[in-house]
Amino acid sequence: MKYIKQAESYMLRLDPGELFVGSITDFAAAKNIMSGELRALGAIKDFELGYYLIKEKEYVRKKFEVNAEIVNAIGNLAFRDGKPFSHIHLAAGLPDFSVVGGHLFEGIVSATAEITVTPWPTKMDRKFDDNTGLFLLDLSCGETA
Ligand code: ZN
Repeated sequence: MKYIKQAESYMLRLDPGELFVGSITDFAAAKNIMSGELRALGAIKDFELGYYLIKEKEYVRKKFEVNAEIVNAIGNLAFRDGKPFSHIHLAAGLPDFSVVGGHLFEGIVSATAEITVTPWPTKMDRKFDDNTGLFLLDLSCGETA
């Protein structure tokens, strides 16, 4: 990974073979990023997407063993179980120009990934929520509308 700081954001470039989600999470940990947002484009392969079944409270997982365009990846950074956690959703363009998408568990950068990470000043944690079965953002430190 190479990166530069641009105003309040970082521009990261991942190289072929690097983990997409893992590299972002490692970067957030190394830079002590307490929370933030990210977006990315580039190319990814061997990625695993999830579709969350609300009633069953579990993900259907599907692996894509193909080189795809990162049409868009968007996500946020917070902490889960005391460790930095990246929550990322991916829209991936396939060779037939169709697009698949969902919750991104992990993938391998195939050509490059250009990722903008914008840190936020307040730490955000994720807490397990019984209703959804998900680790939701705990914004109890904020205000209520
Ligand atoms: Zn998700």
